[in-house]
Formats: sequence, C-alpha cells, structure tokens
Amino acid sequence: MSDICAYHDQLINVRRHLHTMPEEGWCEFRTTAYLIETLRGYGYEVLTGTKVIDPESCLGRNPKLVEAAQQYALENGVSQAMLDEMEGFTGCCAVMDTGRPGPTLAVRFDIDCIPVQESHEPDHKPAKEGFVSERPGFMHACGHDAHMSTGLALAHWFADHKDEMKGRIKFLFQPAEEGVRGAAGMAASGIADDADFFLAAHIAMMCKSGEVSIKPYGFLCTTKLDVTYQGAPAHAGVEPNAGKNAMAAACNAFVQLLGIPRHGSGMSRINVGQLTAGEGRNVIPSKAVMKMEVRGETAEINTYMYERAVDIIKGCAIAQGCEYKIEKMGEAVDLINDEEMVEVLRKAAGAVKGVTVRDDPMNFGGSEDATIIARRVQAKGGKAAFFVLGADRPSGHHTAKFDVDEKALDTGLEVWANAVTALLAK
Ligand SMILES: [Zn+2]
Ligand SMILES: [Zn+2]
Repeated sequence: MSDICAYHDQLINVRRHLHTMPEEGWCEFRTTAYLIETLRGYGYEVLTGTKVIDPESCLGRNPKLVEAAQQYALENGVSQAMLDEMEGFTGCCAVMDTGRPGPTLAVRFDIDCIPVQESHEPDHKPAKEGFVSERPGFMHACGHDAHMSTGLALAHWFADHKDEMKGRIKFLFQPAEEGVRGAAGMAASGIADDADFFLAAHIAMMCKSGEVSIKPYGFLCTTKLDVTYQGAPAHAGVEPNAGKNAMAAACNAFVQLLGIPRHGSGMSRINVGQLTAGEGRNVIPSKAVMKMEVRGETAEINTYMYERAVDIIKGCAIAQGCEYKIEKMGEAVDLINDEEMVEVLRKAAGAVKGVTVRDDPMNFGGSEDATIIARRVQAKGGKAAFFVLGADRPSGHHTAKFDVDEKALDTGLEVWANAVTALLAK
C-alpha cells in the first residue's frame, strides 16, 4: 500500500503518549476520552457507555476502582460531559458508513493496562526515551498501547480512503481485556451483532518481528472465579465449637482443587492465585476469599474443570458449616479462524514487504476474550479471525521491562489496511 508510511509518525507518537497514561480494566476513562475525541476528529460517529457495554453482563468490574478512576480522569482534563456520556463504562465504538452497499466489518482493539511497576532502568527504552508510565504501579506491559495506536491509525487511514471503499466499518475499542473481563459486556450489548466479518489481533506473544501468524491455536477457554466462604467467628479458647471455620473450608478446597483429575481429551489448568482469610490469632476465622481460575483446551474441558471445582467448593463449605458464594470475574472461549478469513489474512500479510506469513498452527498459549465477540459473530452467521502480529520484545508480556519493536507497528498497520480493503470489497 503506497501511502501507509504517511501514518508512521502518528503510530509511534500515539503509542508513546498512551504508554505514559496506562489505566487498568474498567478504569480507562482518560484513555476512552482520548479515543473518542480523536475518532470524532476523523469524522466517525462514536458510541460509548451502555450503547456498547451491557451493564448486566460486565465481569470483574470493581465499583470503587471505577469511582476513583472517574475522579482521576476529571483531574486530568476529561470533562464532566464526557464522563456523563460514558455512563460509568469505558470503551467505545466508532462507526463509518461509506454510503455504498457492502458488508459490515467489526475490528477490535483492547485498551487496558497491567498493574505492574514499570522499570526505570536505562536499558528500558521507554525510560531512556522519556515515555515511561507516569502512573506508579500501572504499565502498558501487554502492548495494548500499540493496539490502540494501530486502531487509531487504521481509523485515520480508513477515513482518508472512505471514497474508495464500500460497506461499513466498526472500530471496537474494548476495555478490560486483562483477566478476560471486558468482552462479555461488549458482546452482550449487541454492538457487533450485525458484523459480516470480525477481525482482532495481538502484538508480539509467540511471534518475532516480521512474522504474522494467521492460524494461531490454543486459545484456552477459561473461567475466573472469586470464591467467598462465610463462617462464624468465636473465641478460640472459650468456645471454638461456636465458630464456623471459613479458612479451614478454603484451605481444604484449595488442596482438593489442585487434585482434580486431568481431562483425557486435552489440556487443562487450574490455579488458586490468592487466598485471604481470618481475623487474628485467637479468633475462629469467619471469612475467606479465594481468587482462582480454571482453563481448558476446549469449552468441554473448561466446563468439566469448572463443574468439578464448584462441587469441591460446595463440599468444603458443607464440611465446615459455612456459606459460600461463587462470582464469575472473567471468561474467554476458544476460537477457530474461519478459512475464508485465513485466506484474506494470507494475502494481506503476504503483500507486505519483509513479512513471513506463518500459517502453521502456532500456540497462542493463553486466553483472549476477543474470542467471546468472535464466537458471537460466528454464531450469527458472520466470519471471524484472530491473528498475531510479530514483534521482538526484550522481556515477557506483563513484566516490568516489556516493550515492543516499534517497526512492527508499520508492518501491522499495512496488514490491517490490506485486510480491511479485501474484506469490504467482498
Ligand atoms: Zn496481557
Ligand atoms: Zn494483551
């Protein structure tokens, strides 16, 4: 594509700007305001709030953090009118109709950061070149800053080339991908229900600079759970018999959960990552909270892990006379790219100079909640795919020295632009 290099400076500058102001899932008010204003500047109709998020289907959204994040946004230049428009929900959808009959294409970019303290050491490029996170304890350590800058550059490019296109494009800027929380609410809003095609991507992961994986596999189905045991406190010396020991229920459950038999038809995972319990040395512990997750190679295996876990959680509650509550905090499913989309990606990536198209099945090795929207589009008869844009990285995703080779952004934008052109020509 001849003029794609015209967007190079924008790609880098926007990525670096967003890198300085990371916001965690469901708290991306400042980020969303920036996206909305930029997209409106390109001439898009931009929807936000409950038009793009179904409040009933939100997973893992903490109202206290949301409140604090709105305050932070207000103190950092976001207007009350803009916050009112967002109705307490982050993320947005930018729509552009070419006015000519054609398909509807939904493209998705995620916008949240990780609660990680970014490195300030001189060998870390964002620190050295002055675009390190300005928010202690928060960092774009997964590359979603690069995703957003790609999405905005693609939106800019599309607006500039609107007259050569047909059909309609919808840019979904999705909140709270980390912990696979945001997609369920966005999918349930129905915002992508009219999409004939759905496309999403991740930068780096298992691919080096120059590689584009068009058939990634191994999107683990996963369910994230918060488990609360409620017992009764009692004096540990005077009448321990009057207590109901929530910590004992949680500890028994913890050990038993790790012993769920592995499933014969594929990979499974289980982890209890946090356990908080008890009041003090001489009190029978009355409350325990476990943050845990199950994963499975297929929906069937994930459901198996989930159902066995629920039985154990329940059994351990009964054994200690405690009440229990299980809250679903996040969810992702598996995805198989539609072959028609794989062919589009093969041509789109293959046409970019210096790109090696990887059509061997490469293991994504994690969970990604774009799959929730993709599966919903597929269920309604649309076609969906997810690809990985390779980028060298000095350190692993979610670590303090994570960074991406910015040359990959130019490659990525060109792959995206080629794919959009091909899909809307169908
Ligand atoms: Zn991540
Ligand atoms: Zn990510």
